[in-house]
Amino acid sequence: MVQSFDQELEERLIRYAAIDSQSDDRSASSPSSETQLDILRLLEVELTEIGAEDVHLADYGVVLATIPGTADGPTIGFLAHVDTAPQFNATGVKPRVIHGYNGGDITFPDAPGLVLSPEEYPYLAEKVGQDIVTASGTTLLGADDKAGISIIMTAARYLLAHKEILHGPIRIAFTPDEEIGRGVTAPLARDFAADFAYTFDGAAVGEIEYESFSADAAEINITGISIHPGLAKGKMVNAIHLASKIIATLPQATMTPEVTDKREGFIHATEMYGDAAAITIKLILRDFERDALTAKGELLQQVCSAVQASEPRAKITCGIHPQYRNMRYWLELDMKPVDLACRATRMLGLEPVSVPIRGGTDGSILTEMGTPTPNIFTGMQNIHGPLEWISVQDMAKATQLFLTLAELSTKQPE
Ligand SMILES: [Zn+2]
Repeated sequence: MVQSFDQELEERLIRYAAIDSQSDDRSASSPSSETQLDILRLLEVELTEIGAEDVHLADYGVVLATIPGTADGPTIGFLAHVDTAPQFNATGVKPRVIHGYNGGDITFPDAPGLVLSPEEYPYLAEKVGQDIVTASGTTLLGADDKAGISIIMTAARYLLAHKEILHGPIRIAFTPDEEIGRGVTAPLARDFAADFAYTFDGAAVGEIEYESFSADAAEINITGISIHPGLAKGKMVNAIHLASKIIATLPQATMTPEVTDKREGFIHATEMYGDAAAITIKLILRDFERDALTAKGELLQQVCSAVQASEPRAKITCGIHPQYRNMRYWLELDMKPVDLACRATRMLGLEPVSVPIRGGTDGSILTEMGTPTPNIFTGMQNIHGPLEWISVQDMAKATQLFLTLAELSTKQPE
C-alpha cells in the first residue's frame, strides 16, 4: 500500500484536538461532561458522510458504526476514546504542526521556558524530517486519544471509498469517559457485536499490547469527634491526625507510583478532603497479578484497622471496589487477535513490541466482558501534559496497520 494518509491525518487531528472534550470524574452523568457530546455528534455526522452504515449515537454516549464486509471473515472492532484527561488543562487547545522537524529543541508559543527536547525524550530524536504536532504550551494536546480517532476515521474513509479491498465486517466505536474508567459498559459490549477488537490508544510505533494493570479503587472514611477546641481536652478526636497516621503508615518508599515501574504495582493516594471532624481519602490500587492486587487491598485494610484500634472513639471504614482486570487473563486463552496484529505489523516492516500497560484501556473492560481487545500504537507521547506530541508519520503507520489487519483477517493463518 503506497497511499499517503499524512495530510488527512494531520487535518483530522488538528480539528478534533481543538474541540474541548475533557472528562470529569466528579460528575455522575454519562457522558461525564456535556462537551464530549460536541465531538460525538460531529463524528456521527462524519461517519455518515463517508458512507458508514448503522451510524448511531447510543444513549450511553458511544458512537457506533459499521463498515460492511466485502469478503468473509470475522467481525473486527476498532475503538478510540473521545475524552481527554482530567489531570491537566484541556480547554482552548491550540494544536500546531512543525513540518519537517529539524531535530532541535521544540519551544511553545504560549509558554516561554517550556522546552520539548530530544535529549530528554529520545523517541523525538528518531523523528527528524517528520511532521510533529503539539499544543501551544498551556494545555495538553489530546492526541490521547484523538490520534486514535483520526486513524480510525481515515482508515474507514479509505475502505468505504475502495470497495475493491477485501475485508470482513468492521465495527467502529468512539467512547466517552475512558480516562475516568467509564468508557465501556455492558450495553456497549452487547451492541458492539465484534468477534474481537482493537483500541488505537497506544504509544510508540510497533507497540501491540495485551497486558494491562488489574485495578481497584479504595475509599477510606474517617469520622472523628468534633467539639470546641477550648473544651476539647479528653473529648476531641481529630480526623486529620488519624488520616495522617494512615498515610504515614502506608509503604510510601516502596509502593507508590513515583517509586515503582515495569511490573511493580502500587497504592496511590489520589485525593483527600475534609476537616477535623471527618475526612475522606481516595486511593487507587494497581498490580499486574490478581493475588498481588488483593494483597494490596488487605494491607490497606490492616493499616486502617490498626489506626482504628489506636482510637476506638473514631469510626474508620475502608471500602474497596474493583475497576478492571489485566486483559492478559483472557487473551492468553486465545492469542489469535494479538497474533494477527503482530503479523500485520511485521508485514509493514515493523517489529511488534508488547510491553505491559501501566494503566488500563477500554479494552481491559471490554476483554473482561467477552470481546478480546488488545491495544495498538498511535504514536502519542508525553500524554496528559503540556509536552504531549505526536508524529503524523507514526499515525500514518497505525492507519496502514488498520488496513493491513482488515485485509489479513479474511485470509487463513499461515
Ligand atoms: Zn487514552
